Amino acid sequence: MKSSVEFRDGKILMKFENENADRLLQSDLPFKMNEIEIFFDLDGKIKPHEVHPDLLALSTILLCNPFVGEELSLPVPVSEEFHKKAQSVISRYKLTPNTNSEISNINKTGGSFPGLAFSGGADSSAALAIMPSETIPIFLNRPIAKGSSYNSEAPLEICKELSDVGYDVQVISTNLEYIRTPVGFPTDLANAIPAILLSEYLNLDSLAFGTIMESGFGLGHSKFIDYGRGAHWRFYSTLFDSVGIELSMPVIGVSEIGTAIIGEKSPLGHYSQSCIRGGWGKPCMRCWKCFRKELLAFSLGGVGGQNFLDMMKTNEVQKKLSEFPISHENVVAYALQRIELSDFPYLKPIADKLDMSIDLSLLETWYPGSIDFVPSKNRHGIREKIIEYLPIMNPTQENVLKTWDMRPHLDSEKARRGQEKLTSFWQDLSIRFG
Ligand SMILES: [Zn+2]
Repeated sequence: MKSSVEFRDGKILMKFENENADRLLQSDLPFKMNEIEIFFDLDGKIKPHEVHPDLLALSTILLCNPFVGEELSLPVPVSEEFHKKAQSVISRYKLTPNTNSEISNINKTGGSFPGLAFSGGADSSAALAIMPSETIPIFLNRPIAKGSSYNSEAPLEICKELSDVGYDVQVISTNLEYIRTPVGFPTDLANAIPAILLSEYLNLDSLAFGTIMESGFGLGHSKFIDYGRGAHWRFYSTLFDSVGIELSMPVIGVSEIGTAIIGEKSPLGHYSQSCIRGGWGKPCMRCWKCFRKELLAFSLGGVGGQNFLDMMKTNEVQKKLSEFPISHENVVAYALQRIELSDFPYLKPIADKLDMSIDLSLLETWYPGSIDFVPSKNRHGIREKIIEYLPIMNPTQENVLKTWDMRPHLDSEKARRGQEKLTSFWQDLSIRFG
């Protein structure tokens, strides 16, 4: 694949030209690549041509990595150090050796800041709440396509309010998610690209993500993942390190329950909204995120509960609850364990397909081993902040995490029958419950 970059009207424009060996429509990919021009609007903060070539190159890799066949020619010559490091973790294809010995790699000087790829959702807000106060949140603002139900009003208002209380919030508009169909991030951490492009200008020494325990360690998925030994951490931490940025996962030892608790207790909790469809302060109350959030908030002792039935009548919620396993099944099970099901008979068929016997108290705690995934200079401060909100996981709970395996339950007769019953339950939900 050939890539090129242009600078026009304060924007960085990236283009890709496919070659025969590229994998645009590979059957092992759940999405395909679109041949469109990707823009990043730097909004006058810096001139696009002042962005270090290694940062342009890393952004290029994060954009097209899954689609490259045998070779990727980077859009600009890069430093030798960058090339060597990046190639050391990219085994599937070759980076064309377009280096220039006059380009030195990025070396941060003192007075640097932590950055956070900020979405405005509960997890990245929890990350912000436990990070140092000088953290710079960087929000990726996607243009809204015709007919899309995505609504950026809430996150943009949150960014504005965070600016008002003193955060140096950065909002960068980009269409990068349109590089694939269906629309979305082409690589896991592609939401970092705006922050990467600004990293030298903002003097970022690290970049944090709101990745939580469920995604990092596989909790609620089929089996425990030893994140530190996995390919994800090695791949991304090496790539980020090649441009002088430490990868940081401050809430990877916190579950979705934990980020909800931090959101409740923290003064920054107000600055978050998980629903990406409703306006600010007006979540749509029809989507899967709204359902999960309401269910969880109610089980944690909040008010509500009267919306469950209406939400369960939507296609999206039924489809998600019919997945096997349900995405974030642990969160649904945790919430249902704490709700009096006789008050909500229509929740019972969901509980019937879950393993309701498992002790999920670990979801209210913090996994201390996860401190390894934040830069050493921030470890003490972040640890202190987290334990203001959450107790430390005890050895029994840690054992539940490390031996997590849903497969015996998913293979069980009970789960299978529960799943079958749930499918037919949707048909008579309206008849039975009005
Ligand atoms: Zn919603």
